[in-house]
Amino acid sequence: MAMFCNQCQQTARGIACTVRGVCGKDEDVQSLMDTLLFGLKGIAAYAYHARLLGRTDPEVDAFIEEALFKTLTNVDFSQEDLWNTLMKAGMINLKVMQMLDAGNTEHFGLPEPTKVRTGTVKGPGILVTGHDLLDLEALLRQTEGTGVNVYTHGEMLPANAYPELKKYKHLIGNYGGAWQKQKKEFDEFGGPVLVTTNCVLIPPESYKDRLYTTSVASVPGVKHMAERNDFSEIIEHARRIGDLPERRGPDVWTGAHHKAVLSLAPVIIDAVKAGKVKHFFLVGGCDGATPGRDYYTQLAEKIPQDSIIMTLACGKYRFNDQEFGDIGGIPRFLDLGQCNDSYSAIVLAVELSKAFNVEVNDLPLSIVLSWFEQKAVAIVLTLLALGIRNVRVGPTLPAFITPNNWKLIQDRFGWKAVGDPDSDLKDMLKG
Ligand code: SF4
Repeated sequence: MAMFCNQCQQTARGIACTVRGVCGKDEDVQSLMDTLLFGLKGIAAYAYHARLLGRTDPEVDAFIEEALFKTLTNVDFSQEDLWNTLMKAGMINLKVMQMLDAGNTEHFGLPEPTKVRTGTVKGPGILVTGHDLLDLEALLRQTEGTGVNVYTHGEMLPANAYPELKKYKHLIGNYGGAWQKQKKEFDEFGGPVLVTTNCVLIPPESYKDRLYTTSVASVPGVKHMAERNDFSEIIEHARRIGDLPERRGPDVWTGAHHKAVLSLAPVIIDAVKAGKVKHFFLVGGCDGATPGRDYYTQLAEKIPQDSIIMTLACGKYRFNDQEFGDIGGIPRFLDLGQCNDSYSAIVLAVELSKAFNVEVNDLPLSIVLSWFEQKAVAIVLTLLALGIRNVRVGPTLPAFITPNNWKLIQDRFGWKAVGDPDSDLKDMLKG
């Protein structure tokens, strides 16, 4: 991505300013403005999906305008003023995630815990990646009865749990994992790939002609299908390529929407009271290619058997193919869905705190987030705005957070950077 520093108007890649301090602007203020900008991008992405599902809110639109305007000025707002705006952004993001959840469940039905086949079956097939369930639905409608199968990839995996999507028998299952492996996975898949949102890499020649974008997604030199009601080009391409081979990977679970989990609430509460369930972990977030992200695999593997692991977003692919078993019929592994389904995690935490008559921060709940892109920033702001303490993030902190601002988050909220999985786990279980 490219953006302009609001002070010197120089182009920088990835972060707003690469020459901090040279222009005389307070780098901590600039860092808060950058955080606001990245968070707003995440909020806008969720608001876009919600809007397509018929959910809008004038308060959200007004906030996005006001907050964007605040990043335009050369005048330094006070840190406290910007911090307050960031906290408001967090609450607005909560509202937007709730709107998206309501839009998704109204349109596609309530997700059901679902075991998903991975791999491919013999026959032509199209792989769908990204986050836009409406695009997937449109493709499923248009491929019905054509003999062309459809597979999910990356953040599309939870689509397999929505009744109005899983009813299509030619939605076979999931192929591949998180976005950073797509060059290998799209190459090996063999059929055409439909990209519905961001987190797409510039394709090598080996599959560039098989890649199609739609909606807001766009890649230079790649065919773009502007109208989701006409996917005939990609469907015809799948037919021309012909049969994909039969491949089978481990089945994976998804569809642990908060309403499905809350239906188990009495059993979970009894299990906690009986000491059978001692701790809850939320481990997930945006995955990435940087070294050190196997931390999340190691952590999930080391979590004790008397703990429940909740996950969401593409960070789940670090461990979602493992068998975690159950505790007296309660699954130990719960995939809540896409990154926006952080809303489900928040509802579950609030409901558990009510059931045990304690504050959320006093629950035996530890949150460990992998932090990568704009939507993750919006979710981080929501957690901060809700006053959620002792969250661990990593493996690296974003370049736009200055040491002073990170210290502020540590001091006010007790957040920590991830370290060694064994010592982190010991610390979290102590807590
Ligand atoms: S979870 Fe984050 S990094 Fe992963 S696909 Fe979604 S937006 Fe991209």
